Amino acid sequence: MIDFDTLLAAVVTDNSGLEVRNPSTGELVGYAPRAESVNLDDVIAEAARAQLEWAALGHAERSRILHRAADSVEESAEALARIITIEQGKPLNGGARIEASGSPAYLRGAADIELDEEVLSEQGTARTSISYAPIGVVAAIGPWNWPVMISTWQIASALRMGNSVVLKPAKYTPLSVRALVYLLNQELPAGVLTVVPSEREIGAQLSAHPSIGKVMFTGSTATGRRIVAASANNLARLTLELGGNDPAIVLADADIPLVAEQLFWSGFLNVGQTCGAVKRVYVHADVHDELCEALVSYIGNMPMGDGLDETMILGPVNNADQWAIIDGLVEDAKSRGARILLGGDPQRDAPGYFYPATIVTDIDKDAPLVVEEQFGPALPIVRFTDIEEAIYEANRLDVGLGASVWSKDIEKANAIARRVEAATVGVNNAPIPNPLVPFGGMKGSGYGVEFGVEGLKAVSIPRVIVTA
Ligand code: NAD
Repeated sequence: MIDFDTLLAAVVTDNSGLEVRNPSTGELVGYAPRAESVNLDDVIAEAARAQLEWAALGHAERSRILHRAADSVEESAEALARIITIEQGKPLNGGARIEASGSPAYLRGAADIELDEEVLSEQGTARTSISYAPIGVVAAIGPWNWPVMISTWQIASALRMGNSVVLKPAKYTPLSVRALVYLLNQELPAGVLTVVPSEREIGAQLSAHPSIGKVMFTGSTATGRRIVAASANNLARLTLELGGNDPAIVLADADIPLVAEQLFWSGFLNVGQTCGAVKRVYVHADVHDELCEALVSYIGNMPMGDGLDETMILGPVNNADQWAIIDGLVEDAKSRGARILLGGDPQRDAPGYFYPATIVTDIDKDAPLVVEEQFGPALPIVRFTDIEEAIYEANRLDVGLGASVWSKDIEKANAIARRVEAATVGVNNAPIPNPLVPFGGMKGSGYGVEFGVEGLKAVSIPRVIVTA
């Protein structure tokens, strides 16, 4: 087990590199060494060399090593959670411990899923089979909202299939990702997993590099488009997990206290900075007031503050740019006459990027707070009277990550769920990822999937052998 001070000391440099400040206090946490000062060609060449030996170990041995790497993260999960809190902002008890101790489950999931050779036809000695070979060096490029969890998602399946990985974290969260890699590299062979903390330019160079065979990208739709353009040159395969604007459709017969509770955990955990968070609610007019009251009463008393305080559930937004986006969207909603039921009144001169949990109703369905991804703790509630209206509104945006439908009539809710244009739809829940269940997006939310057998296939090349 590695304690917090030792783990932090292993990943910071003294006084130069990417500066990391605690989003709760503004205090300096430390610096991460910048990849801008390393030669990317050398890093990728080393990863390519290590990949050959790693692939040669075979599935069983790689899976054993991944389980040992998972043990390493598990043993030091508390130290990792504290680094997440002081760098990313989410409280220890508001997601950081879930993130740190959830990471090993994805490593173990990827290690244990079976993907054996499949015989497609066999007649006498004639035989056709398909198996899945590694691609080579995979670039993993991630965001700052769940940096340890999302990096793990990208790393786990890629390593299991015999690839090596060069990982580029977002500039706001290099230390937690370095800490994760430090723990994993206690067990992984040298060169198989390398981290290059940096600004966006290194991400662009990495995704366009001729020796990169696959890019696993999680981030905004705008950056996803740039990565698609870059892949025209190196023909890298892509998995794109992009932005979302997940609708929740609440029918008149829904269990409102349950809906309010679950909308809180989906929409406000990590103060809404989650790709698959509920980001807009369409509620039947008959239960609109009841839902608003239930949400305000459930959320109104949630403690918000410095996440090292064990009593906090909600923390700050991660960075000033994101804070300004949320503030701009809420101010715009106010200027259009929307009603603020909770929050909406940030303390502008206080330290840290705190934005209060905010519920907005009587809002124009075309307001930017509804149709753009707010990625923050400000939830718009739109009423409907005809379910066709709600389905139309849910589907009309150019994103389709997740969605949820809430009703006591399961058959009716399932029928609506099948008409919603989103890759994962929950009925009476807002689904959270599962290492065994494929997860991806539709439309502008990206393509390709992570997790499950499909996730393993996405980081490998199908190889067919035809024996006459
Ligand atoms: P972002 O697109 O700004 O940055 C993501 C990463 O891409 C960072 O590491 C960044 O440095 C890098 N990058 C920037 N420009 C690049 C380029 N041209 N080439 C290669 N890499 C480049 O996104 P963000 O602000 O860090 O994250 C927030 C967004 O991520 C939200 O839209 C959110 O919905 C989305 N997200 C999606 C999922 C999902 O699974 N679908 C999960 C988490 C976050």
